[in-house]
Amino acid sequence: MTNRHKPLRTHTISIQWKIFCFLLLFCALLLLILWLFQVVFLDSFYQSIKTNEVKSTAAAVIKNIDNTDLDALVEQLALSNDVCLEVMDETNEELASADILRNCAIHRMPPNERLRLIAKAEENGGELLEYYVPNSFRNNGALDQYEKNKLIGHTPPDSPSPQQTLLYTRVFNNAQGATCAVLVNSVISPVNATVTTLRVQLCYITGFMVLFSVVLAFIIAKRVGAPIKQINESAKELARGHYDTVFTGGGYREISELSDTLNYTANELSKVEELRRELIANISHDLRTPLTLISGYAEAMRDLPDEMSVENAQIIVDETQRLTTLVNDALDISKLQAGVVELHTARYNLTASLRATVLRMQELVKKDGYRIVLLEGPDVFVCADETKISQAFYNLLINAIQYTSEDKTVYVRQVLDADTVRIEVQDTGEGIAPENLPYIWERYYKVDKTHKRPVTGTGLGLSIVKSILEMHAGGVGVSSAPGKGSIFWFSLKIA
Ligand code: ADP
Repeated sequence: MTNRHKPLRTHTISIQWKIFCFLLLFCALLLLILWLFQVVFLDSFYQSIKTNEVKSTAAAVIKNIDNTDLDALVEQLALSNDVCLEVMDETNEELASADILRNCAIHRMPPNERLRLIAKAEENGGELLEYYVPNSFRNNGALDQYEKNKLIGHTPPDSPSPQQTLLYTRVFNNAQGATCAVLVNSVISPVNATVTTLRVQLCYITGFMVLFSVVLAFIIAKRVGAPIKQINESAKELARGHYDTVFTGGGYREISELSDTLNYTANELSKVEELRRELIANISHDLRTPLTLISGYAEAMRDLPDEMSVENAQIIVDETQRLTTLVNDALDISKLQAGVVELHTARYNLTASLRATVLRMQELVKKDGYRIVLLEGPDVFVCADETKISQAFYNLLINAIQYTSEDKTVYVRQVLDADTVRIEVQDTGEGIAPENLPYIWERYYKVDKTHKRPVTGTGLGLSIVKSILEMHAGGVGVSSAPGKGSIFWFSLKIA
């Protein structure tokens, strides 16, 4: 890769930093939530909990107003909820009462104040919630004498945040329809002390969390980053053309999958590279040999009058023919594999068509002593492109003639099997070793790579056969063993 194509990556952040930033952000968010809930909103949370508590206490009293055990219930409620309770009827007579708080506002307020509260609650739709500072009813003057500047050391401030008390008044009717009222008093302890404790704690937690993020980010980044770095190094090796690079990067499923994919890619690339080398070697050899012969013979015929013979001219014609075949085959296979070939499908007599091809071929090779034995059966019709199927059959026939043994015989057979017809071309040649069998259908594959003449071919014949039959949704195959000849076949659906 040239520098021009290399993307600039100088501004991207490393995985280690990114993880650290994310962790830090996560911690900050967590701390923010903690601060909000434990410091900022603590007071309002506490107050709403207390309010609900006094309201449910009042509700419990109202439900049992006519119960003879009301006194016991009121006492029990006061103790368990840490509240003071006062239940009164319309004549301001006490029905039940529990006074357990030292600074209870209900039990220390003047009776007219109580009546004012009840009247206000009635106006308010039956309930009233008010906050009091208990000292407003009990002025012992102690605080008036307190002046902080007269004292030494760590002393409380001049005006301490006073203990607030919550007073809930609820007016209701009992079973007889008489108006009653319940007053509940709960002390709200200032949360300042708690907030201070939490704030100190949060400072420690913040420090610990930042430290924790750094360590965790480092560990995670190291564990995740190491295999990625390793894969990156191997990928660079691959990019330099070392296709035998092995990718190892385990630990995580995604990374393992990535290295598997890259291993597969490297393997495929090496195959392509091998094919490319072989292809160039084959093509250049196949083109060069006939070209050398043509130019050699043509020059000889030009320079030496004795060489001006029909045989030499025939050699030039043959070699030109070979070149034409090679170029045509290469064109055919490219078109077939690119999928630009159109099939002209029609129903035709396959048996008759093959018979004609065999006869033509027989005429051609008769002079060299070859014999093609056609073991045909009944006439079979297929729906296919006749020219293409003939080309495939011709390729198999040419191969069989080329590779058959000294007896120079080739057998062609038509086998019917249910709704398919199978055309077999058998020779008595050397056969093909099992290890070569899977590859003979590949482009430019030749078992004999020594290119000794006269057994030369383009290495494209069989891959053309395969492509043609694939286009027809037909089958191709071979059964062959060294020394036992080969049977190449193709099959088509009977029309
Ligand atoms: P070529 O033009 O080289 O024959 P093909 O694609 O037709 O190319 O065949 C590929 C290879 O398969 C050949 O090089 C040859 O080694 C082998 N092969 C094909 N047909 C036969 C056969 N009938 N007997 C033995 N080997 C064969």
